[in-house]
Amino acid sequence: MFKVGIPRALSYYQYLPAWEAFFEALGAETVVSPPTNKAIFTAGNSRAVAETCLPVKLFFGHVISLANKCDYMFIPAMRSLGKKAYYCSKFIGLPDMTRALVPECPPILDPEIDLNKGRRNLYSAIYDLGRHFSSDKSRIKKAAKQAEKAHLAYRKEMSDRGITPIQALDEMHRDEDKLYSEPDTSPSLSVALIGHQYVIYDDYINHRLISRLQAMGVRVFTPEMAEQEALDIAMTKLGSAPHWSFEADIIGAGEYYLEAKVDGIISVAVFGCGPDSMMIDMVRHRASEFRTPFLHLSLDEHTSEGGLVTRLEAFLDMVKRRRRVCA
Ligand code: SF4
Repeated sequence: MFKVGIPRALSYYQYLPAWEAFFEALGAETVVSPPTNKAIFTAGNSRAVAETCLPVKLFFGHVISLANKCDYMFIPAMRSLGKKAYYCSKFIGLPDMTRALVPECPPILDPEIDLNKGRRNLYSAIYDLGRHFSSDKSRIKKAAKQAEKAHLAYRKEMSDRGITPIQALDEMHRDEDKLYSEPDTSPSLSVALIGHQYVIYDDYINHRLISRLQAMGVRVFTPEMAEQEALDIAMTKLGSAPHWSFEADIIGAGEYYLEAKVDGIISVAVFGCGPDSMMIDMVRHRASEFRTPFLHLSLDEHTSEGGLVTRLEAFLDMVKRRRRVCA
């Protein structure tokens, strides 16, 4: 049985159930890299040029950690998932960058995902991908349908139950130690955390931000806890057509949770990310119009845990004070 490596980074948080369903339906085994740790960070950092953003450096570290554990590495070239809405150039170039920087990487499966070129192009990319494992066209088609079904079920599970991708994936993989249950304490504040999934759910990058906030008595809402359609509607209310594929997770989620009257918004991005800086400015502006406290955390490899905790504490103090004043 062929083993397909899936790095636990970038699109992993969004599409893992779909990818697993697809490969398993074609008789392949999937192998996922472990959660980010110091060794993964150091390995990725040593290969990438300094200007590369932290999530992409970590991606290379995850690829390195899987290199001798699989027959193929799955690295789709994500271009677009909506009309005239694009992924950032780093996603598009990911397979080529990996070939250049991680020569020990096994053969890369790199379907081009570009809905701007129409569904026929997507089907042909999926078929070419499936042909590595089966020559039976109808079996590949069935695997693609199972992948779509798994993705929709995963997305629905998160929005219906208000859980994060990490909780949904833990449950899906039946990790008995990690089965999700409601926290015992009733949180006193509600805060929406917005940003890319690979930043807000990678505990190594963000110093366990979600569990830290929960321990501080905060009910945390993230983009996946809302229905995708609701995020898209919230985003289009602002008037401009999306240019980036992930705008719904930032601008849409910001708007959605502002309208839902959360007590505060925290945006999280990595230092030097061009697309994020523009989107976050828009949310900051809307938060000031709603008079909702807003905090932006810009993370990089040097972000200290102590500094982050201090900023969170100061922000939550401000949120509490404002709630008392408005009560
Ligand atoms: S969107 Fe920003 S953080 Fe994400 S890969 Fe591109 S540059 Fe890096």
